[in-house]
Amino acid sequence: MRRAEASLHDPASVTLLSGGAIIPVAPKGLVIHDGAVAIAAGRIVALGPRALVEADYPGAVRIDCTGRVILPGFVNTHVHAGMSLMRSMAGDLPLLERLRRIVWPFMDALDEAAARAAMRLGCMEMALAGYTAFADMFPMIGPGGEEVRRFGLRALLAPYVRDEADGFAEIAAAGTEWRGDALIRPAIGLQSLYAASEAVLERAAGLATESGLPVHVHIAEHRAEVEDGMGVARLDALGLLRAGGILAHCVHVNEAELARIAETGAGISHNPGSNAKLGTGNADLARIQAHGIAVGLGTDSVAANDRHDPFAGMRMAALLPRRYGMPRVLTGPADVLELATLGGARLLGIAAQTGSLEIGKWADLCVLRLDDPRHEPLDWENGAQLLAAVVFCGAPEDVDMVMVGGHAIVRDGALAGQDGAEILATASMQSARVLSRAGLV
Ligand SMILES: [Zn+2]
Repeated sequence: MRRAEASLHDPASVTLLSGGAIIPVAPKGLVIHDGAVAIAAGRIVALGPRALVEADYPGAVRIDCTGRVILPGFVNTHVHAGMSLMRSMAGDLPLLERLRRIVWPFMDALDEAAARAAMRLGCMEMALAGYTAFADMFPMIGPGGEEVRRFGLRALLAPYVRDEADGFAEIAAAGTEWRGDALIRPAIGLQSLYAASEAVLERAAGLATESGLPVHVHIAEHRAEVEDGMGVARLDALGLLRAGGILAHCVHVNEAELARIAETGAGISHNPGSNAKLGTGNADLARIQAHGIAVGLGTDSVAANDRHDPFAGMRMAALLPRRYGMPRVLTGPADVLELATLGGARLLGIAAQTGSLEIGKWADLCVLRLDDPRHEPLDWENGAQLLAAVVFCGAPEDVDMVMVGGHAIVRDGALAGQDGAEILATASMQSARVLSRAGLV
């Protein structure tokens, strides 16, 4: 058993998630059968065999997790929750055509009410699917940030800076307003090199140097972009390849570029579902990891990839390399679960605080029930089978509880403290309004 200064905590202020199997992710592959996690002041203070943890906290508030699996919350490393009103739109058009004909006109027609509705829908979907943190790129960071904070998720929020939508002022304001915030942090969002003018790119590089904020950018997503000289090498030449950066996609990168990414300390968001749907290829995880680059999984927007679903992402990440004849190394269930949790936390720069169930980290976790026919038959004593059940058989419907910093945002498979029906109704109404404003109906 592991514990941290148990005597410092009044048992009555401790919450115990007790019974069930614990998959801490660190160390990789470990499964604690009939375990318990003790939480105090939002952090994990003990975890281990149930009998031992319960003995240390006899007066704790106990939540029975028998027949459930407790694991770290998922981290979505590349998403556009502000585009959630565009679900499944235009996914069959080629990338640039869908951006120019559908996505950008829709984004330009968003107003504050629609941006708030989109962010709330995105947060609702992610929370119910077991995410506890995400890295987002979207306009109107201020109102969106308020909604994320109200939801209680952690987020790295980057407004787009591109020719048509200047997010510089928003980033500067957020950098001041959110300093020290426990849940949200700002970043600089670049849609891509090809969508921004030289002046915007130079200004973004200047802001990155001056502020130290991470740069979140779509890069090397499709072949034509790289053939036009708008790939990682150009990003580097502009001074935008920097420590803490999130490089979304990196499907078309060469060895020298990967070496340079590793050298700078930037990381890669792997989006296998989006890349497959848009037909842009599949990033080579084995090569990325061989360079020691921080890498996590992203969903991208629901316009590109239809759903914010960590289970679908894990399946794609595990299976696509095999389909393309890439090495199977690093795509077993324990490896992929690590990518979806701790790997994502590393990429967002918060791995010291979250991404795995470890003493001292925030209690950012999700609890799954595995009582669906998808999980039968299941030998609960077999750790390898439990890991495979989560990664290959899991679905958002399995999520029973989600905690961020020890605060339950999902209980009994439903939102806690938020009106889900109202969120859905408002999103539907606002989507119709924005489609009309954008002239897309
Ligand atoms: Zn994207």
